[in-house]
Amino acid sequence: MKEFYLPTKIFMGDDALDRLEQLTNENIFLITDPFIEKSGMLDEVLARMKGRNNDFEVFSEIVPDPPIETVVSGVKVIEELNPGVIIAFGGGSTIDAAKAIKDFAIKLSILKTEPKLIAIPTTSGTGTEVTSFSVITDQEKQLKYPIVSDSLLPQEAILAPNLVKSVPPAITADTGMDVLTHGIEAYVSINATDFSDAFAEKAIQLIFEYLPRAYKNGEDLEAREKVHHASCLAGIAFNIAGLGINHSIAHASGAHFHIPHGRMNSLLLTTVIEFNADIQDFSNRHYSNAAKKYAKLAKILGLSSTNCRIGVKNLNQHIRLLQKELDMPTSLRQCGVTYDQVVKEKRVISEAALIDACTKTNCKIPALEDLEKIIES
Ligand code: NAD
Repeated sequence: MKEFYLPTKIFMGDDALDRLEQLTNENIFLITDPFIEKSGMLDEVLARMKGRNNDFEVFSEIVPDPPIETVVSGVKVIEELNPGVIIAFGGGSTIDAAKAIKDFAIKLSILKTEPKLIAIPTTSGTGTEVTSFSVITDQEKQLKYPIVSDSLLPQEAILAPNLVKSVPPAITADTGMDVLTHGIEAYVSINATDFSDAFAEKAIQLIFEYLPRAYKNGEDLEAREKVHHASCLAGIAFNIAGLGINHSIAHASGAHFHIPHGRMNSLLLTTVIEFNADIQDFSNRHYSNAAKKYAKLAKILGLSSTNCRIGVKNLNQHIRLLQKELDMPTSLRQCGVTYDQVVKEKRVISEAALIDACTKTNCKIPALEDLEKIIES
């Protein structure tokens, strides 16, 4: 039996932040990162808090790939305030940290009543505003752990495209490729359904159409809005269907190679598609279910695909063209990782990827050696 429900209420549009004006009677704990705090973006939220009598506290210690220590600091601060609402205002790192801070505070009985979590993404990438996932980093072990629990789901999400206008081109490209990877992995997951396919297909189409525009001109508000929506749609898709080994390897290697999450996903994407599609079996005219799904995607994207083999090839070619338009690196070497480093670390990364939560829903069960080969190639 499969199921799908979406408990997160979504507000969208340029005036969506006005939702915050309705919060009048609660203590509010606002979690953000130092960049957002200094950039003036926080003022957009603070302007909607005027005239309130209740306590309000800002915690702005979030760093990319949030470590366990930051979550622990947040839990200590939350205790005194006892908030009715937590606002997570920032990129995926901020929202993930806020989810973990809330969850730990409840599970450790530090908070007696459950505060409402309102997620306001300022990047268009992770979809974490609508997912049961939070990715926290163990810096000592150099590992990123996805925590998965429905208790992490935000109660509300605010999608305001004007908040992502300031995202610089490189981060726009990285986070946009994260969206594409979410959509594609959810589409071929063993838990994919007609419902997750609907969200994934729309997200993938929007990314191919609008991400290059958002990358080239950050002020293009129509493109920004479409990519922001794609991020959320892909989040809904993978929250239903799960992800796959592209993300498992990205989680396991991200903390080793210090490459932004979306860029690491992009580096792996076409190789993982070739592995999942079983292209070596194509000569026998044996097409895996994944190959058929990739080919269907190629067709939806308007790429000619008279058979599975050409469909998969065309999809990968289309992804490579997108990566080129976004000036994305196509090898670990271009990201400053040496071949010796890869040889040295590939076993430990593959071992961690094999037991990552996302591997369970991959359309093909990988062996340890398969993962090593993907990293090396
Ligand atoms: P991020 O939150 O780490 O932010 C990246 C950088 O962008 C930061 O320096 C931040 O200050 C800056 N930034 C954020 N908003 C900005 C804006 N509007 N203008 C200019 N700069 C801005 O990046 P991310 O890609 O959103 O999140 C990545 C994290 O999310 C990783 O830890 C990844 O593992 C995790 N993740 C979680 C899920 C999930 O479902 N929970 C899914 C995918 C990824």
